[in-house]
Amino acid sequence: MICPVCSTDGDRVIDSRPTPDGRAIRRRRECLACGNRFTTYEQVEAPGPAVVKSDGRREAFDHSKILGSIQTALKKRPVSRERLQAVVTDLATRIKNDFPSEITTRQIGELVLGELFKLDEVAYIRFASVHKQFGDKDEFIMALKALPSSLQVVKANGRYEPFRRDKLIASMMIALRKRPVSRRKVEKIAEEIIESISEREEVSSSEIGNLVMKRLRDIDEVAYIRYASVYRKFRDASEFAKEVENLTGEETLDRS
Ligand SMILES: [Zn+2]
Repeated sequence: MICPVCSTDGDRVIDSRPTPDGRAIRRRRECLACGNRFTTYEQVEAPGPAVVKSDGRREAFDHSKILGSIQTALKKRPVSRERLQAVVTDLATRIKNDFPSEITTRQIGELVLGELFKLDEVAYIRFASVHKQFGDKDEFIMALKALPSSLQVVKANGRYEPFRRDKLIASMMIALRKRPVSRRKVEKIAEEIIESISEREEVSSSEIGNLVMKRLRDIDEVAYIRYASVYRKFRDASEFAKEVENLTGEETLDRS
């Protein structure tokens, strides 16, 4: 057990007895390095929900699988082991509380994504770009290895800058201002765009612009027109008018 004061992994148990309700064993421990005394409780592990896989098969919930996939996504990223452990423990507790009978692997994936989003953007992108297509861990690791370490964006003026997911989302959010499309949907589109360019080492900003326009056109025509006009897709006013005419003119329903 790691000492909460000095983080040394080494202690001796100085007392061990059941709690009054008999549901746990309480142990007093003393750190061999600094002498700090602390208490641990041993309990019967809550079984957790059944995990429903994409092919419909079910298996027992196993938090070490979550740990494994998060560890893989965080490979060589500056996140401490303690932080990682805390995230996994917290996630496993939330899953047991919020999904007492069953949870799909997809739902687990979404929860992991939510945590990685807060933890480390690179890990988030790695995980997001692969977790939806790969059923098995080896495939996931293979895909991860194929990802470039850093995607570069070539701007119109010829300068390079690192690709930034938040920028991509922000530009779509601006075009979609007050439109009936959720941020979640925008994030999903961003992931799809990132996925489509993830094997590349560089991509031009106009290419990204075209990818965004294609998606916006499918989900919200107003946002599409806003975005396209900013990106100077149209050479002149008549071309712009024609494009507007071609659109249905009806407000697109929220399909998110
Ligand atoms: Zn200690």
